[in-house]
Amino acid sequence: MEATVKRVLVNGAGGFIGGHLVKRLKAEGCWVRAVDIKRHEFTQPPADEFIQGDLRNPELVQAAVSGIAEVYQLAADMGGAGYIFTGEHDAVVMHNSSTINLNTLEFGTRSGVKRFFYSSSACIYPEYNQLDPDNPKCSEDSAYPAAPDSEYGWEKLFSERLYFAYMRNRGVEVRVARFHNIFGPEGTWQGGREKAPAALCRKIAEAPDGGEVEIWGDGKQTRSFLYIDECVEGVRRLMDSEFTGPVNIGSEEMVTIDRLAELIMEIAGKKLTIRHMPGPLGVRGRNSDNRLIAEKLGWTPSRPLREGLEKAYRWIEEQVRTL
Ligand code: NAD
Repeated sequence: MEATVKRVLVNGAGGFIGGHLVKRLKAEGCWVRAVDIKRHEFTQPPADEFIQGDLRNPELVQAAVSGIAEVYQLAADMGGAGYIFTGEHDAVVMHNSSTINLNTLEFGTRSGVKRFFYSSSACIYPEYNQLDPDNPKCSEDSAYPAAPDSEYGWEKLFSERLYFAYMRNRGVEVRVARFHNIFGPEGTWQGGREKAPAALCRKIAEAPDGGEVEIWGDGKQTRSFLYIDECVEGVRRLMDSEFTGPVNIGSEEMVTIDRLAELIMEIAGKKLTIRHMPGPLGVRGRNSDNRLIAEKLGWTPSRPLREGLEKAYRWIEEQVRTL
């Protein structure tokens, strides 16, 4: 008998992670419908169908979920610290992202979708556990009592709960991952929504050797960064497993932002002076805790940061050059 081809929907396929995920799902032989409010800026994800439309619109979502077995919900009103932590976009972030999740779950469930993947974020973790840059705590069970430091994080936490509520009450399967700073080629690198690795790659690519690079804050704040291919691998493993999550998908290779800049300068072969300046920052320290993913999936992301940074830098350098 001929094997049936799995029909999947990727929401947010015009974005960074969604675009990479479409490529992976196609390579695995799935039939893929992709939805986004905009076309992908840097590539044409090889989806079987692309619907350009607004997932806040119930009619659009009803059409998108029709005939679909599995949904990957990655669409969100999203950006780096310059977008999330200024406070200027709180209302739109909360309204837009929660409406997308409400629509996707309700109409997906009604239409017979069996399994949903939801992309939550490390931004749900309480600020009080991330004050010491050397010892942040981000184990999955430390999410409560909840105290995210942004409305973006609160929306993610609400939506995590929404997915699990549908699992309990409406009989659908859900898988929830908390991504920690994903980076790589074909992601936003300018315009105000870019995140730290892309922003630093751009600033360093643009700077003349011997010049300056600006860093928001004192540069001693810590983070970990996960290369896109490892993120996609984690998503696929989680989706095919029996474990629901929520689970961290991130790297445990924590670095200061100054160190991140130095690594990129080494890759670029440039010596620049770091200039610290005030800017929106987020928590003082954050690192993925990969004990649960190791236990449940028998796998952890493990490639060195430098390896991914080299690929990301080369891609951004090329974008800067061809501007
Ligand atoms: P992205 O901004 O590149 O992709 C999100 C996509 O959603 C965009 O293409 C955007 O156009 C689309 N979208 C937004 N509103 C829409 C709407 N109303 N209708 C249709 N499409 C809409 O972001 P990304 O980095 O690819 O992130 C994907 C998901 O992972 C997001 O949910 C994000 O919150 C989550 N996440 C990402 C990171 C990271 O480091 N990139 C970290 C934690 C969580």
